[in-house]
Amino acid sequence: MMTLCQSEERRATVLDGARVAEEIKREVAGEVSRLRETHGVRPGLAVVRVGDDPASAVYVGSKIRTSESLGLRSEQIALSAETKTDQLLQTIDTLNAREAVDGILVQLPLPLAIDESKVLEAIDPGKDVDGFHPLNVGNLALGRAGFVPCTPAGIYELLVREGVSLRGARACIVGRSNIVGRPLAQLLLRADATVTICHSRTTNLSEVTRTADILIAAVGRIGLIRGEHVKPGAIVIDVGMNRLTSEAGARELFGDRAAERIEVIRKRGATLIGDVHPAEVEKVAGRLTPVPGGVGPLTVAMLMKNTLLAAKRRREL
Ligand code: NAP
Repeated sequence: MMTLCQSEERRATVLDGARVAEEIKREVAGEVSRLRETHGVRPGLAVVRVGDDPASAVYVGSKIRTSESLGLRSEQIALSAETKTDQLLQTIDTLNAREAVDGILVQLPLPLAIDESKVLEAIDPGKDVDGFHPLNVGNLALGRAGFVPCTPAGIYELLVREGVSLRGARACIVGRSNIVGRPLAQLLLRADATVTICHSRTTNLSEVTRTADILIAAVGRIGLIRGEHVKPGAIVIDVGMNRLTSEAGARELFGDRAAERIEVIRKRGATLIGDVHPAEVEKVAGRLTPVPGGVGPLTVAMLMKNTLLAAKRRREL
């Protein structure tokens, strides 16, 4: 009988979010160009950023660049960290009224002094491409048409396009945020999966997660999901985006693949890592999304798709 040597150890197949994101973006670019030719319409996205959070600046920059590269019109409104709720509401009113703006996104998190709920509720639900307005949250829960938040929508697209069977599957989501966990639960439920949501008060987490055919980690804790949390052969989606700065941590988390991560830490001060312990989980899971290159690119691609959808819906095209 053949035995596997260390380097030939079984590893989960990569669920390539970046590749699927490229596919979605190509489709959006094609439709945007058709829309311009046939109706003279160029979908427009406005992204509002408040304050100087460097991570937010990077995310917004990537959204603007992607929209331009796909033929959408985009603009960034950068406001100072001292902006008051009323001032931000006025900016949103202006964007709501402007014909050329189809999609409005307010980059979160907002400075603590700003009333986030008021701001999200002020966005015209027909331009709410992030899907955070209560009307769109309600539409998703009721199974009606609306805008679905980009990260869960991207995860859903990935599963469907990769041929993962959702009907009757046991899906477990770790994390119950309004941005990821809850809307994703609604999408998977709509697709006839049996959905469990875990959170910080869940007892015996691994006992629950190990029952899942599809396990989604959206927590924000480096390496929380370990080998013991995963059913052998399960599909694991790692939503987490965390900064790892410790070389010892990289050795522990990435095992025999630590060298390239350590190089990144030395060059840039940190490497991006999810909520999944990669070295342990890739030995148990059947398929696993990488970080980076998994859920992140899908989120941006779905924002583009939502903006295109908004432009079409507003003109009843
Ligand atoms: P969040 O609002 O902070 O929610 C985190 C969730 O994790 C909460 O429901 C919390 O439970 C739960 N949790 C915390 N500790 C736990 C533990 N020990 N065991 C089980 N559950 C625990 O986070 P989020 O906005 O959903 O983001 C989650 C992660 O995804 C972050 O790393 C974020 O950067 C990343 N993210 C990535 C993308 C992307 O495009 N790739 C998009 C959005 C978010 P409680 O509710 O009980 O507090």
